[in-house]
Amino acid sequence: MPPSLFNKKKSVGTEYPEELQIETTNRCNAKCNFCHHPFMKRPLTDMSDSLFEKIIKQAKEINPKFILPFLHGEMFLDKKIFDRITYINKELPTTKLSLFTNASLLDSERLAALSKIQNINLIHCSLNSYNTADYRERVGLNFEVTFDNIKELVRLNKERNFAKEILVSSVEFGKENKVKNKEYNDKFTKLITENIPGATVKVGYKYNYLGKIFSFRKFRNLRCQRLRTLCILANGLVSLCCMDMDGEYILGNANEKSLLDIYNGDLAREYRSGKKAKFIPCKQCNMI
Ligand code: SF4
Ligand code: SF4
Repeated sequence: MPPSLFNKKKSVGTEYPEELQIETTNRCNAKCNFCHHPFMKRPLTDMSDSLFEKIIKQAKEINPKFILPFLHGEMFLDKKIFDRITYINKELPTTKLSLFTNASLLDSERLAALSKIQNINLIHCSLNSYNTADYRERVGLNFEVTFDNIKELVRLNKERNFAKEILVSSVEFGKENKVKNKEYNDKFTKLITENIPGATVKVGYKYNYLGKIFSFRKFRNLRCQRLRTLCILANGLVSLCCMDMDGEYILGNANEKSLLDIYNGDLAREYRSGKKAKFIPCKQCNMI
């Protein structure tokens, strides 16, 4: 009988990702005008149960600090999402979860299910606007519905304490005009602090998705911290990082190879070996 893959100690020389980011679905119901998703070239699909379970079984050996059950898309469009995160809780009882959502689908049924999930470190609600008209233009959804969902999420969390932190964020306004930017960011921050006490608020950097989306934020030649995360697309291909939405820079195929073999493959190690300017597509990326 072969030795168990999942009981051995971490092997010397093997590198381990800190986080696994798993795209259980790549569908999205929003059309954010700062995001590449509306132009994404990959077919819309959900991850198969067999692949998801295979990944979680391997995660027992990797023992990541965090699992992020989303990548490109809205995680609550996955009809099986609660079964999947419950399965993570069961198989990896010490691994923390970070969730990211546009919050538009967090109705009472989903909130009740969410409140039963264990080990939630963060629920990041990506709101991206401070009023109805702007939200319609920036995100393409109904502001009042999303805002009320977030308020109810924070209220319920105060009552049941299922998530360590709830963060409400906006991508910065994103124009070169610094005064307008500040005005926008201040209005967003004020709206959240005054109306949703208990939530953390953040206005974040606008990313350029490998140069495919305009951002005035410039390239900085650093070592990329995103490479500590292994990003598994819905079809099992492991992509370079969360900026590679089209899946053009593939490190391996989780249907065929183990996640650790992919993370320790020549290509993945090469990307981790130096600063961004050394690599395509990193030299076009403004991720910090
Ligand atoms: S930012 Fe998120 S919610 Fe908005 S279009 Fe992109 S994937 Fe969808
Ligand atoms: S620098 Fe490279 S690895 Fe890092 S986010 Fe950008 S494209 Fe991805």
